Amino acid sequence: IINIEKVNKWYDDFHVLKDIDLVVKKGERIVVCGPSGSGKSTLIRCINNLEEHQEGSIVVDGITLNKNLKNIDHIRTEVGMVFQNFNLFPHLSILDNLMLGPIWVRKMPKAEARATALEYLERVKIPEQADKFPGQLSGGQQQRVAIARSLCMNPKIMLFDEPTSALDPEMIKEVLDVMVELAETGMTMIVVTHEMNFAKTIADRVIFMDEGDIVEENEPLQFFNNPQHDRTKLFLSQIL
Ligand code: ATP
Ligand code: MG
Repeated sequence: IINIEKVNKWYDDFHVLKDIDLVVKKGERIVVCGPSGSGKSTLIRCINNLEEHQEGSIVVDGITLNKNLKNIDHIRTEVGMVFQNFNLFPHLSILDNLMLGPIWVRKMPKAEARATALEYLERVKIPEQADKFPGQLSGGQQQRVAIARSLCMNPKIMLFDEPTSALDPEMIKEVLDVMVELAETGMTMIVVTHEMNFAKTIADRVIFMDEGDIVEENEPLQFFNNPQHDRTKLFLSQIL
């Protein structure tokens, strides 16, 4: 469902992604890890064109990412993204945050958008927060709203960029639990995270990036118990 071939990207003269190849099948769950500055965020932001790549090709759900704005719009409706800092609209209620995309992008009737929003709030276990504003919620609750908001668009792929790294420890689990449940529904997911237990629970593959390269990729047990590259070993020794 995602086909990345020989992708290169520079920020000015800084080579941030180097010949990246990555194929993700429908329903696959990929965890991406690696040191700060290795290009993890840049890579997943290229998948929905929040960042542009300069060389190589990215095909998502059969659509090639190029200068065609229609293609970009299409891909953004099919690919949900959850950020470290939630990125909710602070001046809108939780319910309105969730209804915005379905109404304006999917052209869904209001009543249906509302029903969908309530259904997903139920799924992330905070239906009682519907009429509050983001600032009145805990970080863990806000992140679950952000996940629900993406799901309201009925995406085919979900991208997560360190979804728990801005959260207090006691809130991390409630967000990870929601993500594990999502994985169990068969959602295609790419998750940038250093939560290794989460990776072991849901990942089909773990990808390790360093300095713009995919240095190593393997199934979680092999990846953690038997890392091949020195850079992977060093990284794991620092985070485990
Ligand atoms: P972290 O774990 O800290 O989130 P990361 O692996 O996600 O790191 P990226 O955010 O993809 O790394 O950044 C990769 C490199 O590109 C970093 O050296 C960063 O400073 C640089 N970079 C990121 N965004 C930009 C930008 N908009 N302009 C210039 N350089 C950038
Ligand atoms: Mg990052």
